Amino acid sequence: MQTKICSKCEQAKELACFPFYKYKGEKKHKAHCKDCQRELYREWYEKNEEYAKEKRKEYVEKNREEVSKKRKAAYRENIEEMRKRDRESYRRNRDKIIARHKRKYEEDIEKSRAYARKRYWDNVEENRKRARDYWKTPEGEVKRKELYQRRCENDPEHFKKYYAKNKDRYREHSARRRWLEKKASINLTEEQIQQMRDIYWLARDLTTIHGEQYEVDHIIPVKGKDICGLHVPWNLQILPRHLNRQKTNRYNADEVFC
Ligand SMILES: [Zn+2]
Repeated sequence: MQTKICSKCEQAKELACFPFYKYKGEKKHKAHCKDCQRELYREWYEKNEEYAKEKRKEYVEKNREEVSKKRKAAYRENIEEMRKRDRESYRRNRDKIIARHKRKYEEDIEKSRAYARKRYWDNVEENRKRARDYWKTPEGEVKRKELYQRRCENDPEHFKKYYAKNKDRYREHSARRRWLEKKASINLTEEQIQQMRDIYWLARDLTTIHGEQYEVDHIIPVKGKDICGLHVPWNLQILPRHLNRQKTNRYNADEVFC
């Protein structure tokens, strides 16, 4: 094995540890090793940072395609490490990055919106799922309330208009709900049916008395996620609307509102 002594660190190293260059078609090795070269470059870079950055920029601009190809290849080669680095760098510069995106977005709002719409619809199912999951997180819940508040302030009629526009959807939903309740009911006695009517009446009375909306809720949801409750008097409870809306179609035995 051929070795060479580095002129800087004065260690004997393999030839492959020395950077080479071509001189008149002949392969020559530099006097110092790659490690020392790196060290030298770092020293030089620190002294000439501005200049180096300028040069680098020029080079990248001139060789855009080649550089991007090389970058992509390097990224793929070490994808786990690179992703980790990206995440960390994003976390460090989050505010700056968001501000930059915002600036770019606002440069041409129409174009940006069209692009965002396209991206959304290109992958609509996944995007919808992501949104649904986000609204369920504590952070999303806060955000949702904020948006709701802002909408009400900007346009007090917004939800009325939304309802009018989507009446069919609401009608279909309540019809499906009634059908489910019918399906989920078992043969009840006349007395039990009367009990259910009383519960619905009571909810209406409570609404009138308290001025807050009261709703009849199925303790075990009729349309639960992996459970199906019955539409029977012993599965009904009266809840103020805000509590009922929090419940959605979850069922958690520790969480029954009484
Ligand atoms: Zn060396």
